[in-house]
Amino acid sequence: MSNATIIDEKVLNECLNEITRALLQSDVQFKLVRDMQTNIKKIVNLDDLAAGHNKRKIIQQAIFNELCKMLDPGKPSFTPKKAKTSVVMFVGLQGSGKTTTCTKYAYYHQKKGWKPALVCADTFRAGAFDQLKQNATKAKIPFYGSYMESDPVKIAVEGVERFKKENCDLIIVDTSGRHKQEAALFEEMRQVSEATRPDLVIFVMDSSIGQAAFDQAQAFRQSVAVGAVIVTKMDGHAKGGGALSAVAATKSPVIFIGTGEHMDEFEVFDVKPFVSRLLGMGDWSGFMDKIHEVVPMDQQPELLQKLSEGNFTLRIMYEQFQNILKMGPIGQVFSMLPGFSAELMPKGREKESQAKIKRYMTMMDSMTNEGKPVLDSSNPKLMNESRIMRIARGSGRQLREVMEMFEEYKRLAKIWGKMKGLKIPKKGEMSALSRNMNA
Ligand code: GDP
Repeated sequence: MSNATIIDEKVLNECLNEITRALLQSDVQFKLVRDMQTNIKKIVNLDDLAAGHNKRKIIQQAIFNELCKMLDPGKPSFTPKKAKTSVVMFVGLQGSGKTTTCTKYAYYHQKKGWKPALVCADTFRAGAFDQLKQNATKAKIPFYGSYMESDPVKIAVEGVERFKKENCDLIIVDTSGRHKQEAALFEEMRQVSEATRPDLVIFVMDSSIGQAAFDQAQAFRQSVAVGAVIVTKMDGHAKGGGALSAVAATKSPVIFIGTGEHMDEFEVFDVKPFVSRLLGMGDWSGFMDKIHEVVPMDQQPELLQKLSEGNFTLRIMYEQFQNILKMGPIGQVFSMLPGFSAELMPKGREKESQAKIKRYMTMMDSMTNEGKPVLDSSNPKLMNESRIMRIARGSGRQLREVMEMFEEYKRLAKIWGKMKGLKIPKKGEMSALSRNMNA
């Protein structure tokens, strides 16, 4: 749609078909997809729109709204408050990623200044306590469990009491999962819940089950008061969209998604920024949060200043390439921008992408003008044919590759340019800023 000169019925249909295909491929229920298509067509009535209307924008907004609707459970989740001790109980089937997610959840809150603790009330699976212990030790989070005791209720109660005494403000109870949804599992969940009276029950599920998430989430909700859902393994499966929309259909809010096996591969799930990122519009709130979270304080002003100038020089591109290759904190920040990660460094093709970035950097290294580097120029139009040939020769690369590097530069400069005029926000002003930028 962005390439079409005239937005007519044909272009709209092509665009909707493409989205429909993508949604069905990620296992979103057919009915939801059909409804979305009908609604968009109803909203975007091209015949009725006068010539002056920005049709592209109206279509984009309608698609954005419909996708948000598909993922919106219609009610917010309960969030624990730091002022008092909260008990959070995790439930889910074995293998869903429950134990890993318990630690990720604890670690996430610990970084935000909470004092979390982990209780292993899984006495069903041999090795469950060892796994939790190992994860907890790595993250320096206190834990409680037993090799001898076989009554999960007893362990849960003891653990919760101990950590209440130790003034922990977030006590996380990991319960057993079993292979199947069976009566014994649900009965055990009910008993642990009754004994520990959790403030929040979080249901963990694996995204690879796609649409089947609907039945699974319903079954758990009927047995215990599930207040929120965490969907794991969003990194490895094409069925994530189906799982997320199916959970939303059960009216359970998804609060986090798991995006890898590591402790910090865990993201807050918010419908609007998520859809925004999905459509390549970027996740500004995530981006700004990440800057404050991971970039050292003394480097933040310079980075934000550069962003607000909106002037993307080849030198900035060079520096960002260095960051991305190191995948240090700033590299992580830039991976939140549309285009910086998905297209430059697609998951699963990291090796190739790294080689490509290194190739670009060699070419940039050989960009000199009478011996002086020219990277600070923000106008690659200055790069005439003989210059490009010189760069190719200097770096031992093909002409085509040099052109490709400049194309990449132009693409990234466009994204960077969107941040021009960025007001440098203080902490806490993030969401207002992101709202403005998304608008
Ligand atoms: P549990 O049986 O539900 O407690 O599941 P575990 O926490 O033991 O996780 C099962 C497997 O899934 C482990 O190998 C985890 O490393 C892996 N896992 C958990 N969450 C994620 C995720 O978000 N992404 C990926 N790729 N793997 C995950």
